[in-house]
Amino acid sequence: MKRIPEPFRIKMVERIRMTDEEDRRKALIEAGYNPFMLRSEDVYIDLLTDSGTGAMSDNQWAGLMMGDEAYAGSRNYYNLCQAVQHFFRYKLTVPAHQGRGAEQILFPCLIERMRSVRGGTEAIFLSNFHFDTTAGHIEMSGGKAINLLTESAFHTSIYDDWKGNFDLEKLEAAIEKYGSTNIAAIITTVTCNSSGGQPVAMENMRAVYELAQKNDIPVVIDSARYCENAYFIKQREAGYADKSILAIIREMYQYGDILTMSAKKDPMVNIGGLCCIKDHEELFQAVRTRCVPMEGFVTYGGMAGRDMEALARGLYEAADEDFLHYRISQVKYLGERLREGGVPIQYPTGGHAVFVDAKKMLPHIPPHQFPAHALCNELYLESGVRAVEIGSLLMGRDPQTGKQKETALELMRLTIPRRVYTNDHMDYVADALIAVSQRAGEICGLEFEYEPPVLRHFTARLKPVKCE
Ligand SMILES: *Cc1c(COP(=O)(O)O)cnc(C)c1O
Repeated sequence: MKRIPEPFRIKMVERIRMTDEEDRRKALIEAGYNPFMLRSEDVYIDLLTDSGTGAMSDNQWAGLMMGDEAYAGSRNYYNLCQAVQHFFRYKLTVPAHQGRGAEQILFPCLIERMRSVRGGTEAIFLSNFHFDTTAGHIEMSGGKAINLLTESAFHTSIYDDWKGNFDLEKLEAAIEKYGSTNIAAIITTVTCNSSGGQPVAMENMRAVYELAQKNDIPVVIDSARYCENAYFIKQREAGYADKSILAIIREMYQYGDILTMSAKKDPMVNIGGLCCIKDHEELFQAVRTRCVPMEGFVTYGGMAGRDMEALARGLYEAADEDFLHYRISQVKYLGERLREGGVPIQYPTGGHAVFVDAKKMLPHIPPHQFPAHALCNELYLESGVRAVEIGSLLMGRDPQTGKQKETALELMRLTIPRRVYTNDHMDYVADALIAVSQRAGEICGLEFEYEPPVLRHFTARLKPVKCE
């Protein structure tokens, strides 16, 4: 496959410490066989997440110097509002310190409106797939999060352009089942992180919005990777090849009423978030009221003025088509190299990551011995590359029965930070993982040495089980 060269040049570099296998074995044992507990200094290529790990441009760094750190009414807030208007056509903007900050100030307001205006009692949220903090905030507000993802997403080797889509039949059935007044909101997540950074088609977004309007349900667009989604629409959906990314983004956001955004993803800032509302003044006032005690005053919401400026500029850079072409191609290139090398992945690759199907690669390791996590460890030992498990370890136990919850997929995610690693780095990752896959049969599963009661994957300590 052709490599798309980087549409930037490098003005500053950050040294990475090189390690050998002995260093890495020692570090991994100290970390309790849990890559989350590694020091970043022991990692060569860090593919744990694309969140807050992007490289800011010279233009964004220059923006930091233009911070207006007034407590109220910072000029950078108004620049941010202007950028939001330009891309999304949403009139009302509340900054937040990151995506989950936006979630915590919005969701209780949506539930409150559902009760007082529409008379519902249950507080159901329907989504193609709720991100984990999104589901967490819904549950903490007394709501229930239901995922209605298209079936094709669960079959990693079957090609589908739109593995992020809602299953529209399931959506209609859920509205019928719970009753529209009990549905606090529909959440369209673009791209769908949980199925592998897979895109949602414009046609699907439109159909979801029409259904929501017909039933008087607000639509929230969870917007961490909206530019990557727009690029896939341009590439894949009939009628969009000649449209600009800007025009596509504007159309996407017609099919929503509110957006929440983790700005740590597509807009390439290290910290920041947004909650924006198309035109609903009353909801805006309610969200602002919650913002003050939770995030900070309404014109900074947990961000420094300089960070708002970097974000305002980042919104423009994220939507640059030359950048997106390179970005999506880099992820695809890694995926294609792995496929050629016989490594099973979620296919096609999504926007921000390559998801490796560990269930297929390590069929001899049962789910309760965490095949995807074992694969992460082996890749780290081989190469110093840090990946992350999205499988049974993350899923955890059923709080009622204490049993390991079943997952449809056992995945290892190779998440590519934006503008940070070169295509040569991608080749290094591919070579290492292909080498690991050639001795997959020798890899052993893991068991707990210490299992934390909640969110166990972050701080668990494990050890390898004995196997032949
Ligand atoms: C990252 C993310 C969030 C949460 O954002 P944070 O900035 O990590 O708080 C919410 N939704 C999606 C889809 C995300 O990817």
